[in-house]
Amino acid sequence: MNHFELRDGGLYCEGVSLVRLAEAVGTPAYVYSTATLQRHYAVFSGALKSHASLGSPLVAYAVKANSNLSVLRTLAALGAGADTVSEGEIRRAIAAGIPPDRIVFSGVGKTAAELAYAIETGVAHINVESEPELDLLAAIAAAHGARPSVVIRVNPDVGAGGHVKISTGKSESKFGVSLAEAERLYAKAATQPSLRAVGVACHIGSQIVDLTPLESAFGLMRALVGRLRASGLSVERLDLGGGLGVPYFNQPDPPPPEAFAAMAARAVGGLDVQLTFEPGRVIAANAGVLLARVLHVNARPDGRRFLVLDAAMNDLVRPAMYDAYHDIRPVAPRDGEPQTYDVVGPVCETGDTFTRERLLPPLAAGDLVAFMSAGAYGAVMSSEYNTRPLVPEVLVNGEAFAVVRPRPTYDEILAREPLAPWLVSPKS
Ligand SMILES: *Cc1c(COP(=O)(O)O)cnc(C)c1O
Repeated sequence: MNHFELRDGGLYCEGVSLVRLAEAVGTPAYVYSTATLQRHYAVFSGALKSHASLGSPLVAYAVKANSNLSVLRTLAALGAGADTVSEGEIRRAIAAGIPPDRIVFSGVGKTAAELAYAIETGVAHINVESEPELDLLAAIAAAHGARPSVVIRVNPDVGAGGHVKISTGKSESKFGVSLAEAERLYAKAATQPSLRAVGVACHIGSQIVDLTPLESAFGLMRALVGRLRASGLSVERLDLGGGLGVPYFNQPDPPPPEAFAAMAARAVGGLDVQLTFEPGRVIAANAGVLLARVLHVNARPDGRRFLVLDAAMNDLVRPAMYDAYHDIRPVAPRDGEPQTYDVVGPVCETGDTFTRERLLPPLAAGDLVAFMSAGAYGAVMSSEYNTRPLVPEVLVNGEAFAVVRPRPTYDEILAREPLAPWLVSPKS
């Protein structure tokens, strides 16, 4: 559930009218609901905590889903940890008040500088994805006289369905090492004086709407922990990644967090490890919308009707990149028969099409629409393609709202690009 509701004929985010908000901030703009973020975090972590056999798991919010500092601070205040995939994300998490010992550092290609930074910062554990990375980390840790906690990321070779670009758990994907390789690497890590081998991790994909592949993967991880322990190694942590899907309306409804937690308890309950979960989308997606204005309704003689918006693929790339479906709702619905629209942005690419032949309530130039479920993998993937100013982000809290990432001015955009000295004409 989320806190975007029709009230007196207009869409509200909590106590704030999106019509008023669009007047104040302009469009396009992302709008996030504090109450929804809080609720999603509470439901997810509460579901896990209701199973004593899961111990007290670390819920490390996957920062890449929505890394706005105010979003992170909202979650930090509830005790969330952070799953990060770059030095920049670690810096964000810390700036938002997430303690380093609740920060996990994941990612396929960490640089030496990033590993050194993570060691100095004292993150909870570094998830190593390959042998070269393990060797690099051991060397950097030795040079620092440090002994970071290391988790080996396993690719359990379980397909999780979903779009090929967000599936990560099959053997052909670039993530992690095979189960067999993980045993060898874990043993190797355990012999390194500069490393503390503490556990294993997996993350098989995103927007997963069926618990079966997750349960298979968790079962394989449990067996792996058993084999490592049987060979005399100690395993203290098990990181089970994120990936739980959200309802985008065109898919079967994903299982609720309660069902996910019950499955986790079945699969890995009572294992005597510190568990980590890394939910991203399930926390942030339905807590945000992209607000856009209709520039034109362009009716073609062939009957096609284009709804041209002031938002484009540079603001929300998911439809172009993943063929993603977003529910599109008029902010102030008009009476009348629904119409079929191709909803497009102004960018000079045919890919700048949000959806084709979507049946929507009637819309006219100047109307506002909201792309629902845009709080995850929305603003974080935005760009200034076509020199469209970076889309602003707004956080709502009850009756209050604040611009938590302002739209840059054109002067600010241009000032970021100093001319090469030989191109600057001498002052006359
Ligand atoms: C992206 C990612 C997540 C979060 O995935 P969601 O589908 O947003 O829950 C968690 N862990 C890792 C390692 C990731 O790369």
